[in-house]
Amino acid sequence: MYKNFNEFGISDKIIVSLSEMGFEEPTPIQKMAIPPVLQGKDIIGQAQTGTGKTAAFGIPLIEQRPEAKGRYPYAIVLAPTRELAVQVSEALNKMGARAGVVSLPIYGGQSIELQIRSLKRGADIVVGTPGRVLDHIRRKTLVLKDIKTVVLDEADEMLSMGFIEDIEKILGGIPGERQTMLFSATMPKEIIRISKNYMNKPVHVGVDASEMVVAKTKQVFYEVREEDKIKALTRLLDVEGPALTLVFCHTKKEVDEVAGRLQQMGYPAGAIHGDFTQSHRDEMIRKFKGGDIDILVATDVAARGLDIPDVSHVINFSIPQDPEGYIHRIGRTGRAGKSGIAITFVTPRQYRQLKLIEQFAKTRINKAKLPSREEVRKAKEEELAAGVEEMIKEGKHTRFYDMAKRLFEKYSPEDVSAAALSMLLDTEDTQEIEEQGKGYAGQQKDSVRLFMTIGKMDKIKVGDIVKSISAEAGIPERKISNIALFDKFSFVEVPADLADRVISAINDSIIKGRKVKIQHAKKRERR
Ligand code: ADP
Ligand code: MG
Repeated sequence: MYKNFNEFGISDKIIVSLSEMGFEEPTPIQKMAIPPVLQGKDIIGQAQTGTGKTAAFGIPLIEQRPEAKGRYPYAIVLAPTRELAVQVSEALNKMGARAGVVSLPIYGGQSIELQIRSLKRGADIVVGTPGRVLDHIRRKTLVLKDIKTVVLDEADEMLSMGFIEDIEKILGGIPGERQTMLFSATMPKEIIRISKNYMNKPVHVGVDASEMVVAKTKQVFYEVREEDKIKALTRLLDVEGPALTLVFCHTKKEVDEVAGRLQQMGYPAGAIHGDFTQSHRDEMIRKFKGGDIDILVATDVAARGLDIPDVSHVINFSIPQDPEGYIHRIGRTGRAGKSGIAITFVTPRQYRQLKLIEQFAKTRINKAKLPSREEVRKAKEEELAAGVEEMIKEGKHTRFYDMAKRLFEKYSPEDVSAAALSMLLDTEDTQEIEEQGKGYAGQQKDSVRLFMTIGKMDKIKVGDIVKSISAEAGIPERKISNIALFDKFSFVEVPADLADRVISAINDSIIKGRKVKIQHAKKRERR
């Protein structure tokens, strides 16, 4: 059923726009969502990033345009971030181009006056971030009285960004007779509650995340020690020569470090995470899409939902904390029929985490061997040789003829060119990366002691520490022991195989309003 867009019974104008966008056949979520929505039903759609949710709600939204163009918008889409609002709005404008439907993004960070003027000129569909939408409603610059359809896109993300109250206020202010669509990758309790309170017998559509791993994505892992990760990354970049690479890190700090190191070494890399300004993030994404930078280093949140075509490699510089996160990350490659490669770095202690991911995603992630120094050297030499040939063919080198002649008076052409080449090929990477490969090192029972920069003076109690660690790192409270509170710092013991996870979850997080650093405690000297 529904092999073609015209089987949905939508207008030809939309079908033409879709074919202009290169859409030939509906994706599974589109096949499932579009018919009930066209029948006027509320729906809840659950599917991973990259499955085509925008058109799943966009096509019916455009089909539902009113006969006569109204003064106020007939539909509103709420999205978690400015990037997504812009992206969704652009997609709607393309889908609605022939049908004459105009969509407008409104989001925090852009001048409100500008948005007020655009809203006055009229928009059929408004796509906005909840905070800014509410702001416009309060100023009466956005009127919701004609709204027929509301879409909550990436609802779980809006929840985790603290938008839930705003969303409820917005939903509460929209007239009774309306259709509501909710899209979410996961279904936390709060989202289910919202759907109960604000939706009318919603139809559930979607595919279980565990069935969704893109078969086209080749998945491998490398066992790398924490301190060798950068080197492993650059080797892979050198040898595989990927087109566009998305590198996922666990924390903002790690994003900064990885992007910084890559830039120092001359790789065209950029970084995005929540601490950067909007304009910086926009700029980075534009550059990445345009190929001005080949490598984008990001946190999960910053990269969530962004649609960047042509990503050839996704590299999990740090292993995702939850198995579902893995599916979201690798969903960024192998999109729309293209094949991609997903690479995960695994430290010896993270084997268990890897197994959990394999189980959850019902997939097999094979171990691969990092390119050796020799292979890297070869790859670099080949690239350089190709560059030299190209330069000669294009004749770009001729202004150095005189210099070459002068050198040839003293040395042979072989010597001169070999010396010039060796200046170009950096020989920094001389150490072998230690292969460990014993596997399942994570089983050890002993615990380790961690040091945290929070203590009695911060009015923190033992119970608070246990609860925070348990919640943030997602480990049972009983695994956290021997807490020692001092005025300005404290110690805590956790099983050795969970230490990395606790450190990455807690470091730089806020506990009791304070930013906390956590690290392995220095071993006490015996006297
Ligand atoms: P999601 O919201 O589920 O993350 P998007 O709606 O952003 O996914 O779509 C992901 C990509 O797939 C986009 O580049 C989009 O243009 C493309 N796409 C969506 N539907 C189709 C289709 N039916 N045929 C081809 N490409 C599609
Ligand atoms: Mg989306």
